[in-house]
Formats: sequence, structure tokens, C-alpha cells
Amino acid sequence: MSRNKKNIIINDVEVADAGAEGNAIVRVDGMVVFVPYVVPGDIIDLNIFRKKKNYAEGRAIALKRPSPLRVEAPCKHFGVCGGCKWQMMDYASQLKYKQQQVRDALERIGHLDTSGMLPICGADKQYNYRNKLEFTFSSKRWLSADEIRDPEDPGDVGFHVPGVFDKVLPIRECHLQGSPSNEIRNSIRDYALEHKLPFYDIRNHTGFLRNVVIRNTSTGELMVIVIVAEQRNEWLYPLMDFLKEKFPQITSLLYIINEKMNDSYSDLEVFTYSGQGYITEQMPRPFGGDPLRFRINPKSFYQTNSEQAFKLYSHVARFAELKGDETLYDLYTGTGTIGQFLASKCRQVIGIEYIEAAIEDARLNASINGFDNCTFYAGDMAEVLTEEFVQRNGKPDIVVTDPPRAGMHDKVIAQLLNIRAPRIVYVSCNPATQARDLSLLSEAYDLGRIQPVDMFPHTHHVENIVELTLRNKK
Ligand code: SAH
Repeated sequence: MSRNKKNIIINDVEVADAGAEGNAIVRVDGMVVFVPYVVPGDIIDLNIFRKKKNYAEGRAIALKRPSPLRVEAPCKHFGVCGGCKWQMMDYASQLKYKQQQVRDALERIGHLDTSGMLPICGADKQYNYRNKLEFTFSSKRWLSADEIRDPEDPGDVGFHVPGVFDKVLPIRECHLQGSPSNEIRNSIRDYALEHKLPFYDIRNHTGFLRNVVIRNTSTGELMVIVIVAEQRNEWLYPLMDFLKEKFPQITSLLYIINEKMNDSYSDLEVFTYSGQGYITEQMPRPFGGDPLRFRINPKSFYQTNSEQAFKLYSHVARFAELKGDETLYDLYTGTGTIGQFLASKCRQVIGIEYIEAAIEDARLNASINGFDNCTFYAGDMAEVLTEEFVQRNGKPDIVVTDPPRAGMHDKVIAQLLNIRAPRIVYVSCNPATQARDLSLLSEAYDLGRIQPVDMFPHTHHVENIVELTLRNKK
């Protein structure tokens, strides 16, 4: 081991495990060191550059012997982009470590019994699985250490590098969304350079092109939203005409004028330049019949991996074991997709969701799908899900809950313990907060089956479904 003031270098250490946030774990003298972009089984030279009380952070400065779990990362942006931290690990190992992440969270954080854990549900499609990507134009290109900034550089289009808000990593090919996602993004860039449309500078609030959002469906519909900083029709309209002509497969060509300081567009008007103002995704019905149809507006949430969303919902349906006469609450319903997936197998669905526009979509989609037994309410869960609400809507026989990463509010958990629905199916995109919530719910509920699902291959993210059954049913 050699040391200087800040850095410690350790030669020939083995990477032990895969840990939180996609970093691997190396153990040095009992201390955990988090290291990105290495795989369990790699032998590396390790540079520890930051030491905290309970752990340290490091980087691999040499790969001495690659792990048998290693594969060639196909993406040329791998290692800088930060989007797919596990591309260099074979898919079977990714699944193994995701499953372990769920088990560790439930056991260590929640002190829960994980004997009901089923093998993780993997994805058939490990690339081009996303139905939505958003790219940012920036007058400042992210440069690697050996590049020097050219004052004439117009900037580029790509993804934000983690932790750098004003620069983008130029992306030429992203493997997460199918064709023509890359062609559209690259064409807008080339067009802008040729026609001297300036890229946006978020520090000085100058420039024109801000973002492009590309959404597609399994049925071939394609939405492109171009977001610009000001209404300059002499720049905007020729660009939109160019896209329309070059990509006739675009079914929904939209634009947004964002004059604000930040990139969020949830509060801005969306203009339809050509085609329809929405796209429609289809999903097979779990209990037979024509596919479900979900109209997706430019601002609507829809699960970003459609194929895996079907599998996720199918596992929810399996755990729900509906007979047909149930009142089902779908908490954090978004655009009501889980509720509608299950609606034909229960008496009524009650969906609750924060975002008013999502609830409007949920209502519209329920009518498109021919359901008259779904009722959706907009509001904050902690405020809406009250005793009075339950009295008015009927006591749930089953609750499906799918909260955001932060998990459920204490008040919501207290209310669920008060409502005492015989069964709960808890869907989560964050096993750590799920473990915390389950531990509180375990006061009255037993954990049954546990089904992790991989929605995002090559990332460390994992979705998990847990079945809960009320003890001492009265
Ligand atoms: N179940 C849906 C969406 C889940 S995402 C689907 O499968 O598509 C989680 C949802 O919770 C989001 O739509 C978000 O808007 C909503 N949400 C977040 N905080 C909330 C709160 N406090 N009250 C109600 N809904 C909330």
C-alpha cells in the first residue's frame, strides 16, 4: 500500500460485491470502499480518494484481471454517461445482484422474512427497451480531462453528466430507445449546426434549442416534442417542417416554448405542429379480450418499459388473486393503468393520484377501454385516503399501492393499518423505502410472496412487488 496526503493506492485487490447506486464494493481492512464501473471478481489497482466515517470512495486505476462476469459494454458513451452503470456485467449477474439488493434491503432495513422471495423477472429485451428519452441541447459540451474548450464550439445535444447541470455529454448513439430515436436527435443537431440555430445556455439564458423528448409505442406511434427558449417562428417552423419531411413516421409532432429558468415543462402549453396531440399505447388484457388502450399525452406518465410494465402488472394480478366481487383501491394510480389492468376482474376500482392531469387521462382511458367501474380521485394521498373517504367509497378488499421512490407517508401507512384491508399488494421502485414501509405494516400484515422485476437492464434500478395478508382477520 502506498500513500500520499490525499490518496491511498492499493494494488491487486478483488472486487467483492455489487452495492448501492450501481457501485461495486471492495473490502479493505474491514472497510467498505464503493467503486464505480467494476464488476465483482475483477482484480484491480484501487485508488481510495475519499474516506468517510463508515465507508470510503475509490476508483479503479488499473484492471489487472477481468472478472468472468465481465462483458464488453456496447455503448461508446459507457463510463461517462452514467445512465447504464452495469453494461459491463453479464445480464444474468445483473439480475442476481438486483435480487440480492431487494433481499438485503428487506432483511437489513426492514428486518423482514424474505422466505417468500421468487426469482427475479428479467427482461427479454435488454436494449432499446425504453419508450421515452429526453435529450438536452447545451451551448457547453462536457469535455474529458484531456480536451481543451474551443471558444467557437457551438455545443451539442445529449444527456447531463451526473452532477454537472450546465453541460451535456454529446450522445451519438443511445442503445436504450429503438430507431429512429438516435436519427431524430442527431438530425436536429446537424440541422441546427447547418442553419446556425444556437443551443441553449442555461447559465446566461441565451440560445434557442433546449430539449427534445422522443416517445414511442409498441404499435409504431411516435411523438417528438421540441422545446425551444422563445417563439421565433422563422427558426422553429422550418425545423419542424424538416422533421416532418425527414421522419414521416412521426405521428405526433409537438413543440413547447419554455422561457423559464429551468427545464421542467409540466406547467407549459404544448402546441401540436402536425399529427395528433397524443400517442396511444396498447397492452394485452390479462383476462382476455382486445388489448387495453392507453392514450398518452405529452405530459402523461407511462411506465417507460412497456414490455416489462406488462409483466409487472401481470405479477400484481397474480398476487391480487381477484375473484370478481372485490373493491380494489389503486393508490398512486398515475394514469390509472394498474387499476384498468385489473378492472375486469373486480367489482370496482378506486384510484387515487396527486396529479390532476393524470387523473383526467385515467378517466379518459377507462372510458376508451369500456370500464364503468373505475372512479379516480385527484389529491395528496395523506389528505384523500381518510376514514370518511373509505366510508363513501366502500372498504377495500384489496389495496394495490405503487408510491414514488420516497415511499409512503407515515399518515398513509397509519391509515392503511386503520383500514385493515384483507390484502395489500405493494409495488415499489425503491426497495429501501419499501422495506421501511413494510416493517411498519408488518404490525398487522404478514409478508407473502416477493417478486422483484427488472424494468431497467444495465442500470442498478429494480422494481419489487410484495404480497401482504392481514393477520387476525375479524
Ligand atoms: N401506478 C402508476 C404510477 C406509479 S408512479 C403506473 O404504474 O403507471 C407514482 C405516482 O404517485 C405518480 O403518478 C405520482 O404523481 C404519484 N404521487 C406521488 N406523490 C403522491 C402523493 N403524495 N399523493 C398521491 N399521489 C402521489
